[in-house]
Amino acid sequence: MIPFNKPHMTGKELWYVSQAHANGHLAGDGSFTKRCSAWLEHRIGCHRALLTHSCTAALEMAAILARIGPGDEIIMPSYTFVSTANAFALRGGVPVFVDIRPDTLNIDEALIEAAITSRTRAIVAVHYAGVGCEMDAIMSIAERHGLIVIEDAAQGIMSSYKGRPLGSIGHLAALSFHETKNIISGEGGALLINAPEFIEQAEIIREKGTNRSQFFRGQRDKYTWMDLGSSYLPSELVAAFLWAQMEEAYEITARRLEIWETYHKNFEAVEKQNRVRRPVVPSECTHNAHMYYLLLPDLKKRTAFIATLMQQKVGVVFHYVPLHSSPMGEKCGRKSGPLVRTQLLSDRLVRLPLWLGLEEYQNEVIQQVIAEL
Ligand SMILES: *Cc1c(COP(=O)(O)O)cnc(C)c1O
Repeated sequence: MIPFNKPHMTGKELWYVSQAHANGHLAGDGSFTKRCSAWLEHRIGCHRALLTHSCTAALEMAAILARIGPGDEIIMPSYTFVSTANAFALRGGVPVFVDIRPDTLNIDEALIEAAITSRTRAIVAVHYAGVGCEMDAIMSIAERHGLIVIEDAAQGIMSSYKGRPLGSIGHLAALSFHETKNIISGEGGALLINAPEFIEQAEIIREKGTNRSQFFRGQRDKYTWMDLGSSYLPSELVAAFLWAQMEEAYEITARRLEIWETYHKNFEAVEKQNRVRRPVVPSECTHNAHMYYLLLPDLKKRTAFIATLMQQKVGVVFHYVPLHSSPMGEKCGRKSGPLVRTQLLSDRLVRLPLWLGLEEYQNEVIQQVIAEL
């Protein structure tokens, strides 16, 4: 079986975990956490990077920071992971689903203004497949209407939009280090803060609603309950593992990009024959090869394609089931417009294996894919 995903290890993870063990500091915010957050702040250029135990946790922190309450509306694509919507629904917020662009499958920025009401508080820009949303347009809409922009950059580490790293543009951003992403720690994430007014409150929310971070820095003589919060920080063992990955982030990205490019070149001819559509990366974006997907003609073709490839032991999978038509999306969310593209494109999309080490088998995958198109 050629699996769809295989987590990449650099070889240094356990060495760093053993160092954390030897340091005797196992709870969060030790020296490895500090190294990881400093790396993110330097690499991405955000004001603060706070490690969390998942991207889901970082999105939940963003919802608390944005002071989302019952009835507040949050604009987002329907074509996204459940955590994008859940984080806000947990606070009583109403996800407002907007259709996606036909090229990048990111939120269609031209449809955002029509979705804004007096209850709108925030826009979530999900960078699908690590390819940036039209952030200039989104930021200027947000500014005109006084809205907070949260980048769901779960898939977007090491990607950029107009030379700016994804995660550095919105007021807040969330990264994921889940084992299915490019840089991993099993489960893991980070909240990136670009609007400095959120920093102090974010530290409090992450530390169970207390000002313990300030206490540890000697800025307070005791710590106490200040705000809503939860335990959002990862253990040092997880941060130690993550550090090994960050050290090789450039190499990992370069190798993924080679695999991505090999797919892309090899499917050029079948796209010309209109048998398939390849991913589109706008010229103002550089990407991180998080994902290689193809758009097949329709759902029937895709279902048959996945069944055949799985039979031939090639791990290919579809992706998001649109949130607007899910049971929970219908119950707590609202559609803005008919979302026709979301439905059609999600039915047609199939993801191909992309992991370090695939190089050996990639030709085989390509041959089998082309034979089934
Ligand atoms: C993976 C992913 C998440 C969730 O990340 P976790 O770290 O597993 O919580 C959220 N949003 C998007 C777009 C993702 O791809």
